[in-house]
Parts: sequence; structure tokens; C-alpha cells
Amino acid sequence: MGYFLNFDTHFLPSEKVDVVVCGSGIAGLTTAIVLKELGTDVLLLTRGIGNTYYSQGGIACALHPQDSAYLHMVDTQRAGRGLCRDEALRVLIEEGVQRMADLERWGVRFDPETTIEGGHSYPRVFKVEDYTGKAIYQALWRRAEELGIKVLMGELQEVLGKDQVQGILTYGDGLRFIRSKCLVLATGGAASMFLYTSNPVNVRGDALGIVMRKGVAIENPEFVQFHPTVVHNTSILVSEAVRGEGALLVDQKGERFVDELQPRDVVARAIYKKIKEGHRVFLDMRHLKEKGVDLQRRFPTVYRMLRERGYDPEREPIPVSPAAHYFIGGIKVDLWGRTSMESLYAVGECACTGVHGANRLASNSLLEGLVFGYRTAVRVYHDLKFLRFSDAEFKHQREGSLEPTYDFESLKRLMWEYCGLEREESGLTHAIETLRGWLSEWERWKATVENRQLLDISLTALATLSCALWRRESRGVHYRRDYTYERENYRRDSLFLI
Ligand SMILES: Cc1cc2nc3c(=O)[nH]c(=O)nc-3n(C[C@H](O)[C@H](O)[C@H](O)COP(=O)(O)OP(=O)(O)OC[C@H]3O[C@@H](n4cnc5c(N)ncnc54)[C@H](O)[C@@H]3O)c2cc1C
Repeated sequence: MGYFLNFDTHFLPSEKVDVVVCGSGIAGLTTAIVLKELGTDVLLLTRGIGNTYYSQGGIACALHPQDSAYLHMVDTQRAGRGLCRDEALRVLIEEGVQRMADLERWGVRFDPETTIEGGHSYPRVFKVEDYTGKAIYQALWRRAEELGIKVLMGELQEVLGKDQVQGILTYGDGLRFIRSKCLVLATGGAASMFLYTSNPVNVRGDALGIVMRKGVAIENPEFVQFHPTVVHNTSILVSEAVRGEGALLVDQKGERFVDELQPRDVVARAIYKKIKEGHRVFLDMRHLKEKGVDLQRRFPTVYRMLRERGYDPEREPIPVSPAAHYFIGGIKVDLWGRTSMESLYAVGECACTGVHGANRLASNSLLEGLVFGYRTAVRVYHDLKFLRFSDAEFKHQREGSLEPTYDFESLKRLMWEYCGLEREESGLTHAIETLRGWLSEWERWKATVENRQLLDISLTALATLSCALWRRESRGVHYRRDYTYERENYRRDSLFLI
């Protein structure tokens, strides 16, 4: 598809750096820290806080003497429904043990006691009260500052170069050209393209679209995990642990309709069905006090966020709905973060290493960002010995005066309606036709950064819809109303290329 914006790098403010790491979550910060520790010239580009900061639960790792890498692996494979890539999983679990020591060396202080989460056969989730992600983010950020890593606040717009990365364009206070030998994308997932989502606004999935325009391959985008209990019309997630303590799911008449402790996807679909039938759904925590659970002490972050929104969980049931939470697929990478484009790497939620298969086991994703961030940094460090700066200038001009006929909100509605917790052939086909219609004139759109973003998120949505249509089965988090069972000939990865 090529470039979207109009630019001539000759006339843009510019700088030169060996490596740009885009994204400041656990994956990007780890990559940048390790690169810097290895003496590499690295720039961290970010548009702000992502999912890492909001992670409540923790990070899974088989560290306890009575636990084992084998058990962690089996638990993850069970959730992944036959699609976990075993060699990537082995790396995740075995190297995770080493990388957790790095996290501690960089200043994360985990609570002495670990917890168990759904699907784990051992309490191997390491946490810092209910704000593990924030604690990790703050420690990594401090380490990055200590090392003097350069940070640029801005948004990635274009990847420059044909078969190999030769630089990027960013937008902060205007367009800027950064000439680099390589780019590491650590831009997080794309669950925010759904109407209801637990993801914050900086995580939008547009970077996937940017590289799709370069012909980079996307894998398994149809696997989107939905969280059952996000406070209605917000991105405040109320973790499973609250239901674990006895909170109940009820409708507007106060009647229960599902066993709250069933697997995440089963509970989420039950709530989704109820809401589709016209009911409202609430999480009732009022009785927990009598059971000896002090909400404020046990779940300080959730409690504070609810109070800030004007809800009092000790006095009223809280309206909830399922929301898109975790993007399992992403940019296809090998075990070292390499993508199908030379000197472009991807790591964390934006990448697909295959560790999660068709369903992510809780708390494995922070570990993935940490482990593969480290490996990607090491790979980049070695590859840099063989890469040279290009001295090319880049230019792109096209006419365009139209505004898109839709906006981000309509795209989110389309995705929620037809590619949400339950999908089927007719709805997916309708959504693809609608989106293709919306996109038919993209080359005549005004070349603004807002329109660039909408185009790129739409491409990520198109990949998700197309692979959801292709996968005529139900597996893991992908549920098809017209094929409610797993089919052996679909026990393989999907791939999307523009
Ligand atoms: C509410 C919530 C709770 C969670 N709880 C847990 C948990 O307990 N355990 C667990 O393992 N996982 C959890 N997850 C999932 C986990 O947080 C993420 O998978 C993980 O943090 C992703 O890390 P990341 O570094 O890949 O991306 P993120 O942390 O999402 O960071 C992405 C970064 O990319 C930047 N970015 C994106 N696009 C651009 C662009 N175009 N230009 C510039 N910058 C860009 C963003 O600004 C951000 O800095 C949770 C997720 C949510 C939303």
C-alpha cells in the first residue's frame, strides 16, 4: 500500500540513532534497558502509558522449588488449545526464571506471597499488591533514567525504507525524521478497536497497520481475549480475584445467571448474552464485608478507581460488561523478535511469538514482554554489527481532500457487533464488506495524522475480521456461533498480508 502522509525528509527536522524502540511498556522498556546496558545508541519513542501500567494481577513464573517449568508449560498449553508454539513456550518459561532476577535487580520488590489464577496449577503469580504493572513500570522507568536513555514523546507515523528499515517519521510537535538502522516495535495490543475495552487510549493497534502497509505479516489476529468484568462504559477492570473472594454477577432484578468462577470466556459470553437480551449486569460486592473481605485493603487500586468514578462497591452493585482485553495475535516474529522485514523487530503484545496459542493463560503476557524484550535486545545488538546507516532521503506526495466517511467510534461499534465474543459467517462477511467500503477511497483522504491513524487501525481490524472469517471453528477465545467446536484442520496459525 505504501506511505500515507505527505513528506520530504530533506526538509524535516531530523536526528540519527542506531536503534529506535517504539513503546514504553514492559516490552519496550526492557528492550531499551538491555540495549543501553550493552552500550547501544538507543532512542525510546512513546506516546505515553500503555497496558503495562494498568496490569493488576501479576507476572507468572515457576520459581518456587515445588513448582516446575514443566507444570507451567502444561498449564499454558492447555489454555492455548493446541496452538502454542512449543519452542517459544520453552524460551518463555525457562528464560523467565532468569529475567525475573533482572526485574528484581532493576528494583521491583514483589510481595512475599504468590497467588494462583485461573488455569494455573500452582500459585506462581508474583504480584505487588494489586498494582504489579505500575510497580514494574516505575522500576523500569527509573532504570531507564539512571542509564540516561533518550526519550522522545511522539507518535510513530511511517516506517521508511523498502525492504529494510532505514528510518521512521514521528509526530510530536510536528513531523520529525529519525534515521536509524533498526526499529523495535513494542507498541502493545489492539483490543481498543472494540467498543468496550479495558485498554487505555495510547494502545490503539495502529502500529500494526503501519507495518502492514510495508507488507509485514500478521499472525492469529482473530484471537482476542475478552475480560468478563469491566465497569460499564469505562476501561476499569475488576479482576477475577474479586469474584474469587465471592462477588456475584446479577441482573437488574438481582438474580444470578452464571457460575462466577467458570473460565473467563464462559463467564464473559454469559454476560454478553444477557446484555444482548436487553438486561443490565452488575457485580455485587456488598456482602463481602460480612465475609471478612475488606475491599479497600484487599483491592486498593480497584476500590480507589471505583470511588473516583463515583461508585461505592460497599453500598451498590457495580454495572459491568465484558470488554476486549488482550490481543493474542500480532506481528509474526521468530524467537528473536525478527519480523518478515529486515531490521524491523516486534516484541510484547504487538508481536505474535505463539506462546499463548489460542488463549492466553493469565499473567503470562508481562512475562512474555520481559523475556522477549531481553532476547530482542540481544539480537539487535548483534545485528547492528552488520547494519549500516543509509543516506537516502524519502519523499511522498499524493493529492487528497476527502475526509473518511466513518470515525473510530463507528469502527469500534462494527467490531463489537460482528467480531465480538460471538461471531458467525454472515456477520463477519457483512463487517468486511462495510469496512472495505469505508476504506475504498483511502488514497483520496486528506493526508493528516488523524486519518493516518484511522487507516492503520482499520487495517488491523480488517486483519482481525478476515482471519476470524477464515477460522471456521471455535478454538480458545475465538467463538463461532456457526461452528461451535474445534476442527483438526484448523489446528494451525492464520496469516494476514495486505
Ligand atoms: C487492565 C489490564 C490488566 C492487565 N493485567 C495483567 C496482569 O495482571 N498480568 C499480565 O501478565 N498481563 C496483564 N495485562 C496484559 C498486559 O498488561 C499487557 O499484555 C502488557 O503490559 C503489554 O506490554 P507491552 O509492553 O507489549 O505494551 P504496553 O504496555 O501496552 O505499551 C505499549 C506502548 O506503546 C506505545 N505506542 C503504541 N502505539 C504507538 C505509536 N504509534 N507511537 C508511539 N508509541 C506508541 C504506547 O504509548 C505504550 O507506551 C493486563 C492488561 C490490562 C489492560
